Amino acid sequence: MKPVFTIIAPIFNEIACLGELHRRVTEVMDSTGEIWELVLVDDGSTDGSTEMIRNLAKRDSRVRPVIFARNFGHQIAVTAGLDYSRGDAVVIIDADLQDPPEIILELINKWREGYEVVYAQRSEREGETWFKVITASLFYKMIYRITDVKIPMNTGDFRLLDRKVVNVLNSMRERHRFLRGMSAWVGFKSIGVSYKRASRFAGKTKYPFKKMFKLALTAVTSFSYMPLQIAMWIGFISAGLSILAIPVVIVLRLIGSQFFFGQATTLLAVLFLGGVQLICLGIVGEYIGRIYDEVKGRPLYITSEAPSSD
Ligand code: UDP
Ligand code: MG
Repeated sequence: MKPVFTIIAPIFNEIACLGELHRRVTEVMDSTGEIWELVLVDDGSTDGSTEMIRNLAKRDSRVRPVIFARNFGHQIAVTAGLDYSRGDAVVIIDADLQDPPEIILELINKWREGYEVVYAQRSEREGETWFKVITASLFYKMIYRITDVKIPMNTGDFRLLDRKVVNVLNSMRERHRFLRGMSAWVGFKSIGVSYKRASRFAGKTKYPFKKMFKLALTAVTSFSYMPLQIAMWIGFISAGLSILAIPVVIVLRLIGSQFFFGQATTLLAVLFLGGVQLICLGIVGEYIGRIYDEVKGRPLYITSEAPSSD
């Protein structure tokens, strides 16, 4: 029978959290009295999570495993979960129980009131380093300012999406994905529910700085041309400055001033402009690399095991 609710959890080496995740999700979802399913996407785990997911699926037919051939990253794992989801409402949740499953009931209530996107907004974060809290807060502020879509502050991927929204998202096959941006971009009737983000149930974060930086870059490049425009503005400013400087230097020379003589000034100007040009080239390169990835049109992920899509 077709489930009303789908819960999606991406899993990357979360063996210590899986049992508890299943237990708490079951408890919460059973209390709704509706049919539900739990899609566990194994994102190339190497710690035995894969086996554990298979075992859970054997014991509980509501668990549907999607096993990746390798690690494709969190956003892609969630994408696969959306692809295989069948519910009328779909909830995305982290496997480490930082997003308390109990909040799902509040999300569902808002959905029943007619909202199509119900995102969970962190009012507090527990057990995260000050570095993560500060970088995350800067990141959300920057994204809010420079992108065209208004991505709600302090939201992660923990949210409920109506089937309509999921279908639209599933039709967007872009490779570099920033799902919370995409879900804001598609629109629909949205509302936030605030919650206290707990600390990890077990294990360590799977989002080291490098991955966070990559996600931030994807967020910026997927939703804004601002970096490219910055390159143009730097060009205008430096060209403008030199146009102003030319008559000044000519006059200084004519009156015999020693002010702008010497190699050092030339060298500094050349180095500075050379640096600026390389940075701008790098920005353009970042966009071109992304275009190249899209043009190749490779599948977003490869599964070694996936449920039949009935
Ligand atoms: N995750 C994943 N693939 C990855 C990295 C993370 O599927 O390459 C999953 C991870 O198992 C967890 C969720 O994404 O369920 C969020 O990761 P994590 O809790 O490590 O991120 P944080 O909460 O520290 O930002
Ligand atoms: Mg986490």
